[in-house]
Amino acid sequence: MGIPDRVHKALELIAQGAARANRNPEEITLVAVSKNAGWQDIMEAYGAGLRHFGENRLQEAQEKIPLCPPDICWHFIGRLQTNKAKGVLEHFSLIHSLDRFKLAERLSRLAEEEGKTAKVLVQVNIAGEASKQGLEPGEVEGFIREVKGLPFLTVSGLMAMAPYTPRPEEARPYFKAMKTLFDHLRSRGEDLPYLSMGMSSDFQVAVEEGANMVRIGSLIFSAELID
Ligand SMILES: *Cc1c(COP(=O)(O)O)cnc(C)c1O
Repeated sequence: MGIPDRVHKALELIAQGAARANRNPEEITLVAVSKNAGWQDIMEAYGAGLRHFGENRLQEAQEKIPLCPPDICWHFIGRLQTNKAKGVLEHFSLIHSLDRFKLAERLSRLAEEEGKTAKVLVQVNIAGEASKQGLEPGEVEGFIREVKGLPFLTVSGLMAMAPYTPRPEEARPYFKAMKTLFDHLRSRGEDLPYLSMGMSSDFQVAVEEGANMVRIGSLIFSAELID
């Protein structure tokens, strides 16, 4: 299977997951995670219709982005060091990994200098894993209230990763917990359009549980996967 077929397969699986949850598949954005892909591979996925791509390292992204069409919306999904904030803000439309106030302050200040607004998702460490970044679920509401005071930063939603497991069903409780938190924040009047969760191994479950942005890398780009 080539990349265009894999893209169509991913879209089909998203549509099936959405159908099982009585959701409109069009409200779900597929972000193709191209961190291990070269620009030719990105162009193949682009040719198959994708316009959202995710990268987790600034330096590699900076090399690829200028080679790609300008109508791609780039998502920064990696851990963001404060000293990389300027470059990330310059190249990316949405940052999925806001996890601390100091970074929020820096982004807002840099965005002001650039005459724009930094658009971010708050990363939540939904399973409390030591290996992952993100706020504890109980901290998120207060954090969002705090960063609201920053004039050039907009929180547009939440991002999470479930613990890795070969059995996607095991990820379901974490996605459910994220959806509950997301709904709670929205019921408190927060304008949060995006819930970013689900990767190659578990995105169908994430879609069933309410994700409206999924981040899929290896299913689309990894040649090692058995077709
Ligand atoms: C790599 C990565 C993905 C995609 O993972 P796959 O298993 O290759 O689909 C999604 N989100 C984040 C934050 C990642 O780092």
